Amino acid sequence: MKSNFPEKKRPLILVTDDDPVMRKMICHRMKQDGYRIIEASNGQECLDAYQLESPDMILLDAMMPVMDGFTCCQLLSKMIRSEHSRRKSDSLHDDSPLSQTDQILASIERTPILMVTGLDDTESVDYAFEMGATDFIRKPIHWAVLRQRVRRLIQQSNLYQQLEIANAELKRMAILDGLTQLANRRYFDEYLDQQWKIMEEKQLPLALILCDIDFFKFYNDTYGHQDGDSCLIQVAKALTDEVKRLGDLVARYGGEEMAIILPDTNGEGAFFLAQKIRERINSLQVEHSASPINQYLTLSLGVASVIPSPVDSPQNLIKFADSALYLAKQNGRNRSILYTVD
Ligand SMILES: [Mg+2]
Repeated sequence: MKSNFPEKKRPLILVTDDDPVMRKMICHRMKQDGYRIIEASNGQECLDAYQLESPDMILLDAMMPVMDGFTCCQLLSKMIRSEHSRRKSDSLHDDSPLSQTDQILASIERTPILMVTGLDDTESVDYAFEMGATDFIRKPIHWAVLRQRVRRLIQQSNLYQQLEIANAELKRMAILDGLTQLANRRYFDEYLDQQWKIMEEKQLPLALILCDIDFFKFYNDTYGHQDGDSCLIQVAKALTDEVKRLGDLVARYGGEEMAIILPDTNGEGAFFLAQKIRERINSLQVEHSASPINQYLTLSLGVASVIPSPVDSPQNLIKFADSALYLAKQNGRNRSILYTVD
């Protein structure tokens, strides 16, 4: 039978059987149906191959020496489940709709296990399911039945993988601003809270830079909203290019305001970065004929840094950075101001 799958997407089946003749027969049939095959001749080989190759499904003989299929099945489903919980660990809140899709994913087997059993009593069938098998087939194998079961389980595995991709994309969309691809406001709030707690525990400074594009309304009025959008994208890119440390976060705070969260950064360090960003925007020389202060696009930046304490709050850090930004605007814009307690 000719394969229905494009070469690279041909599903991978892990065939485990201690009987070499039986294994060859199963593999031969599976290859005929267009699947790629890896073979294992005992339970341990099966576990190793699973970890190495992450197959789309597993065909598992129940009766094998050393480690029988039931034990192997139990260990496999443990591995598959822990793999799943590792993947979902980056979800936002436990009550978010995204965590609900995670739960749906958890209820489907990512890597279905089809047990091949020669035993004819219901007890061992029950046992197979108890050990985490997705389905079973009896020896002697009825090849047409095997083909249908495999096809269905491969479909299930594909469905899982598609859901997983869609879910990852949804998660990305939930935390990103669609236009600039920076973190969105929602994720900014969450990340600031999170870093606040971490820096409070470590007693390290947490810095925040608020950036505002000078006279952006005039820019939009003069060049139109489409150019306004590309201007925002350009500024966002400049910010991301300058902010290089892992753990720093650039976010779109609102309209033409962007924010940078800098864990473990004091006021001087954050101010230095703010100046670099401002200079970089200047050097881009984006025409802004409607700006009363410059022929090119400029930024005003407010900088603040505090060592978080239980009596303080992230909202105060925002307030400090905001009042520094206000001062930067008051003092003629195209400048950075570091908040200091007066
Ligand atoms: Mg056997």
